[in-house]
Amino acid sequence: MLSHAMENYLKVIYEILERHERATTSMIAEQMGIASPSVTSMIKKLADLGLVTHTPYQGVSLTKVGEKASLEIIRHHRLLELYLAEALDVPWDRVHEEAEKLEHVLSENLEDRISAVLGNPTVDPHGAPIPSKDGSIHRVGRRRLTDVEPGNRVEMLEVGDRDPELLRYLGMLNLYPGTKIDVVSIEPYGGPLVLRVDGRDVQLGQGAAKEILVTE
Ligand SMILES: [Zn+2]
Repeated sequence: MLSHAMENYLKVIYEILERHERATTSMIAEQMGIASPSVTSMIKKLADLGLVTHTPYQGVSLTKVGEKASLEIIRHHRLLELYLAEALDVPWDRVHEEAEKLEHVLSENLEDRISAVLGNPTVDPHGAPIPSKDGSIHRVGRRRLTDVEPGNRVEMLEVGDRDPELLRYLGMLNLYPGTKIDVVSIEPYGGPLVLRVDGRDVQLGQGAAKEILVTE
């Protein structure tokens, strides 16, 4: 049995590796809001259990067993987020916080029922892929919105789930997974992106735009 804290670490490591080449202890610390020395000691515990490996210049990676455990908890988390959003109408900026608690106590039986009721879904409300029961995960090609050349139309695929304020802001601009976005222009010197969304021009700062993943 893994502790809730261990499950959270495995999940965060997996999520960092979804978006970056390496997961360093400082990235893990930042993502979890925990001081680096505590992260280092937890990583050591996880390594002793054979769940992760840690090499100074490569960062932290998941072993096969560790990856299986992290996919299980991520499946819980993302299924719960979708269930909360679809069945209970919880707004997309609030589902993450609730799922953080429930993911650790969800039984296999309830997991299966939630999945069945939702039609065995493959993406959560933020567009993140939901791992299947057997631990496979289907990810389509994606890139950051900030990497799109002006003049192109893309579809929004995914945004991180950890910043409620950002999610509320994007919601105000009607930017959700599935939204079609025309990139009109990008202002120079790190200025905002001008996007056409639902026939309306909106400006989005680089800081927010780089959190959005879109079709290739
Ligand atoms: Zn979440």
